[in-house]
Amino acid sequence: MGLYEALKDAVSVAQKADNIEIMRALFEAQKQALDVLDLLREKDDIIRALEKEVDRLKESVRIRGNVKEWQGWFFLVDEDKNWKYPPICPRCWQVDARIVYLNRISATNSIMRCLQCNSTAGHMPSIPKDAFQDRAA
Ligand SMILES: [Zn+2]
Repeated sequence: MGLYEALKDAVSVAQKADNIEIMRALFEAQKQALDVLDLLREKDDIIRALEKEVDRLKESVRIRGNVKEWQGWFFLVDEDKNWKYPPICPRCWQVDARIVYLNRISATNSIMRCLQCNSTAGHMPSIPKDAFQDRAA
């Protein structure tokens, strides 16, 4: 039995005893118990959000060595140091340590845009396949 239910039972007992003062005190305690439960739920939500953010930051630290810059563009590179398309958003990476892939605005326009922060990153340059072979170490 939880705190709220225990207080509800106590109110019921006080009603049978016809004791108004005890009933009022128990109603107030019941109301405060509900407020505390609401507060605990809010704290649980905050804790869950923070745990999720910690996981995201741990992941960004883990892959930090796999993010390489080439002439202002940022890419994830694999273990063979080959860059992966599409590039990631430089703003989201540098400001929020967040991997967000850029998308072409349209099939006919090669300007890249981040769907997270809405920044544009210009026209995708042609990058040599081995761009990171010497620099990725
Ligand atoms: Zn972004």
